[in-house]
Amino acid sequence: MTTFESLGLNATLLKALEKQEYTTPTPIQIEAIPHVMEGRDIMGLAQTGTGKTAAFGLPLCHRLMEIGKSPEPKTVRALILAPTRELVNQIADNLIGFTRGTHLKVATVVGGSSIHIQTTRLARGTDFLVATPGRLLDLLERRALTLEYTKYLVLDEADQMLDLGFIHALRKIAKLLSPRRQTMLFSATMPKLMEELAQSYLTEPVRVQVAPPGKVADKITQTVHFTTQGDKATLLREYLAQHPEEMALVFGRTKHGSEKLMKLLVTWGFSAGSIHGNKSQSQRERTLKSFREGELKVLVATDVAARGIDIPGVRHVYNFDLPNVPENYVHRIGRTARAGAEGRAVAFCSPAEMGELRAIEKTMKITIDVAGGSPHIDTGPAPKQQPRGRSGGGYAGQKPAGKPGTGGARRPQQGRPQRRTRAA
Ligand code: AMP
Repeated sequence: MTTFESLGLNATLLKALEKQEYTTPTPIQIEAIPHVMEGRDIMGLAQTGTGKTAAFGLPLCHRLMEIGKSPEPKTVRALILAPTRELVNQIADNLIGFTRGTHLKVATVVGGSSIHIQTTRLARGTDFLVATPGRLLDLLERRALTLEYTKYLVLDEADQMLDLGFIHALRKIAKLLSPRRQTMLFSATMPKLMEELAQSYLTEPVRVQVAPPGKVADKITQTVHFTTQGDKATLLREYLAQHPEEMALVFGRTKHGSEKLMKLLVTWGFSAGSIHGNKSQSQRERTLKSFREGELKVLVATDVAARGIDIPGVRHVYNFDLPNVPENYVHRIGRTARAGAEGRAVAFCSPAEMGELRAIEKTMKITIDVAGGSPHIDTGPAPKQQPRGRSGGGYAGQKPAGKPGTGGARRPQQGRPQRRTRAA
């Protein structure tokens, strides 16, 4: 059996792992760590939840511990780029855990925090810098740091960095890096633009993959509940009421809609919070902390704000609005069933979202079981929705195929209504 010891990590790291109760390496760690230790470039296809932070973080800590002297002013030994502030903080927290008691320094730079404080911090030089690409570029342009001596580079959640429009920043950063470096690129999906990114950053990479893109943990029970847009909030209330003590993450599409939904849940007596782009960095951090600590039971979030967030206790993911990019569905439901636990994901599908549902099922190569309601009928461009109402039952106009959350009712294969093509 492969152990962290047999992967060649030093005794200090082994002790740190023991403290954090990492007993056996995960598959991505078993695959990637030996290659990183050998100095190879890596192209890793893996989602958060697989243990990929430690897959690159541990061997990098091992290498940097060997150096034995502090970094020069304004230099960075290992640079880790990630798409969101939350993910940057999460990676940095992991690294701090691995390096506790060593001389290694971990710094972060993210938008929304004081650039002045970050500049002062970087002036001293750092072993690890975890950064979002936009703010890093700002700091590079102000000459607050140099990447000339950066020997290790990690691009984490690279597909999300592309989705967020960081390609220009990444192209610019690529030019400022020394060619004599080791690079690791991790992504949950492989969109076309990734090829360009991979070519400009990687040299003869080893490909490591733990699950094909689009495949999610087997431990997540996925269902869809057909309803109308107007009845979604009541339906959510019914689902949440079934497990008041368990943590639930609810995904909305817009900042405004997510905020409104959170407020409604609070008036209904749920301990709910929200994170989205209209919240300041400190508000987002506070809310996440309360959620992580169990003070809040329900977190309403948009995709960007919740990307990559690792909160082990999340048992339920509700797709209140279906994502219009099918890959985001994979990321969303991956917020549950962390570290071997079981999870449940329910998608609320309105008549206008049938196209999104089809795209999700196509990407995932599955048919999602029906938890309630009936698939909406393809009625052509008009009328836009099925008969609807706002009855207290939550699924007005439709017969639930089961109680919310009971799941498992397979979509009828014969005689079932044709799915409706989404009106453009
Ligand atoms: P990541 O995919 O890096 O976001 O990691 C997902 C979660 O798994 C985090 O909470 C890690 O702390 C945890 N984790 C990673 N590797 C291990 C391991 N070998 N044993 C136990 N937990 C781990």
